[in-house]
Amino acid sequence: MRALRLHGIDDLRVDEVPVPTPGPAEVLVEVAACGIGARDLMVVRGGAPPGVRLPQVLGHEAAGTVATVGAEVTDWQPGDRVAVLVGRPCKRCGYCSIGRENLCASLVVPGIDTDGALAGFVVADPDLLAPVPAGVPFHEAAIVVDAVATPYHALKRAGLAEGSTIAIFGMGGLGMHALLLAKLWGADVVGVDVDPVNLERALAWGADAAVDARDGDAAARIHELSAGGVDRAIEFVGSARSVDQAVRSVAPGGRTVVVGLGPEQLASLPMQDFVARELEVAGSFGSTLQDVGELFDLLEDERLDLSRSVTHTTDLAGVEAGLRRLETREEHPVRTVVTDLR
Ligand SMILES: [Zn+2]
Repeated sequence: MRALRLHGIDDLRVDEVPVPTPGPAEVLVEVAACGIGARDLMVVRGGAPPGVRLPQVLGHEAAGTVATVGAEVTDWQPGDRVAVLVGRPCKRCGYCSIGRENLCASLVVPGIDTDGALAGFVVADPDLLAPVPAGVPFHEAAIVVDAVATPYHALKRAGLAEGSTIAIFGMGGLGMHALLLAKLWGADVVGVDVDPVNLERALAWGADAAVDARDGDAAARIHELSAGGVDRAIEFVGSARSVDQAVRSVAPGGRTVVVGLGPEQLASLPMQDFVARELEVAGSFGSTLQDVGELFDLLEDERLDLSRSVTHTTDLAGVEAGLRRLETREEHPVRTVVTDLR
């Protein structure tokens, strides 16, 4: 099979490699679609986790068809349409036992920590597959597990109630899906970005207002728009400045959820404000099997529409260009998906 492998910093190659062999408790999935995103970019540009053995197959956001199953696997059969969950948790620790497996200390992410799914086939844990409803195309199913499930989990962390107001900082791939989902929840959404094309798109996808963070103080503008601050803010940019604006944009009693992963320290808030206004700040990391299952239910019921989400498709050789597009924001990708893995 062909596989897109990282050989070193900024060194991606399409290699011919053997099809991996699943163990008795594993399944082999023929990959039909695999999304690429900021996590891949981070690894390719030099952020591979310590201990990673190069060359390594990239790809952490995939869907396809079960090709073969190990002798001990009873839940799946060849031909089943599945999405492959992003992380492989230990399934034994306290977090795993309460459905918070995204916090498992032993979480391994194929495509980041070990061989992933930008290849003809990938080995998967049968407990970490989600059935893809018949009407959902593979390129949409693939992005559900990260680009859609990550903002979905964050909105649950935000505790968004029907009719709430929410400011979304960063209207890229994750932010646009947060917008779709927040509208589904009946929220009033303010989209914040520094790119006028992204802001236009946010309005076209249903945002109630758009704030250009280059035009002065975004938090002050949000206070004006929402008459005293939003109920919830969610941050996808991963910069301390953006988190600071998000925290200052909420009303008393408001909660800010930080999803963006950056290298900076979080700026400290005046304690007077934090305490007297009963502010809350929470992190949100990845998603759970439960989240992904709920999203496929929404897709099956046609309540969630991802038909505009995959703005670019490519083959394995086009991944480098796709990552560059993500970096430069040229062509304003929402999500790029590799749909030709042969
Ligand atoms: Zn665990």
